[in-house]
Amino acid sequence: MENGSKQWRFKARKDLTSASDITVRGMLNKLHGAIVATDTRPTVFLGHGDPSAFPCFRVTPTAVDAIVDSLRSAKFNGYAPTVGVLPARRAIAEYLSGNLPYKLSPDDVNLTSGCSQAIEVVLSVLSQPGANILLPRPGFPAYESRAAFSKLEFRHFDLLPEKGWEIDLDAVEALADDNTVAMVIINPGNPCGNVYSYQHLQKVAETARRLGIMVIADEVYERIAFGTNPFVPMGTFGSIAPVITLGSISKRWVVPGWRLGWLVITDPSGVLKQNKIVDSIHGCLNICSDPATFIQGAIPKVIEDTKEDFFKNTINILRQASGICYERIKEIDCLTCPHKPEGSMFVMVKLNLSLLEDIVDDFDFCFKLVKEENVVVLPGITVGLKNWLRVTFAIEPASLEDGLGRVKSFCVRHAKETVKNQNQNHNQE
Ligand SMILES: *Cc1c(COP(=O)(O)O)cnc(C)c1O
Repeated sequence: MENGSKQWRFKARKDLTSASDITVRGMLNKLHGAIVATDTRPTVFLGHGDPSAFPCFRVTPTAVDAIVDSLRSAKFNGYAPTVGVLPARRAIAEYLSGNLPYKLSPDDVNLTSGCSQAIEVVLSVLSQPGANILLPRPGFPAYESRAAFSKLEFRHFDLLPEKGWEIDLDAVEALADDNTVAMVIINPGNPCGNVYSYQHLQKVAETARRLGIMVIADEVYERIAFGTNPFVPMGTFGSIAPVITLGSISKRWVVPGWRLGWLVITDPSGVLKQNKIVDSIHGCLNICSDPATFIQGAIPKVIEDTKEDFFKNTINILRQASGICYERIKEIDCLTCPHKPEGSMFVMVKLNLSLLEDIVDDFDFCFKLVKEENVVVLPGITVGLKNWLRVTFAIEPASLEDGLGRVKSFCVRHAKETVKNQNQNHNQE
């Protein structure tokens, strides 16, 4: 029989086949597909969130030794317990307690396959019929995709560029209703590169308390702060409102491929335990796959043996690169950066389309940029802000200079004639 005439019963989920359009990965795949192979200049990647390929961000050899030792010990060849192996949970509890006003127990820590799986688990646990959660805009699209996948309603509150990307807490209060269960914050910020002050985080906790909701704190960039605000974990305010902290070794150790993350109950008052949220997290983890056991086995040594020098070096490179990024963008007429980055690996840049001749939106800008200049930048629409760009500065500083120089040439070439003439007059004055 012809395949065409046979009626098969299965159908593809439309929301999944189109899901790649709204993920960072899906968008970058599209842009990478547009790279012109005959361009002899090296491609400059300013769209990614994974700098592990660059020698200046290479993980410390002691962490690699920890993995090798873990494998050689032959103790971690089996399945791990649902929540992860005890020595790893103990090491993470101690590591995170160093920054908190109370001590976490290993039982507060659940190991996950990267921070991504921690997001999946927490959103699955919260997705009851009728419930809704509040998400930041701009934000990290995995939250929207995952919530949609779990049929959990989400509503957006804005981050305010003129206030250093602080949360519009009035909007949070206005958006919430009796069915709101949680709000998500990402600190240090992706995509904005901001770091929240102690005072602002306290207000977030007080708002959550008033609304009777929990705070989901994505701290995958924890301690990656190089501006004036030090990193303060949201768990500091866990006694005001319950906090679930998500993190991983992906960003601070620059090993996203090792897939080791955590979901931590930072709730000293025990509200989440009383309300059986902790039990449902364990139930969800029971049906999930775990991070590789030998990676779990290596965690105590990965954490203990990584010296401050490694982190200081990463922070210094990021501080220098973020400065280059901020200064070079200032020199480009059609781009503005409302807030100098002070953490994570990204900065949000606003496009002024009225100064450009033949660019219709942020996607068009990024598509033409990759074709003409072999530079990849993420369109802001991917992270929720149309006609903005997200620029990654976590690359070798020399390539960053090269890439931003090409962005400038591109913008000059596409500038409106009137703008070009004005600039010429200005230069002659
Ligand atoms: C990279 C990233 C994640 C995912 O982290 P993994 O540990 O690689 O799964 C989650 N949240 C944000 C904001 C990120 O930037």
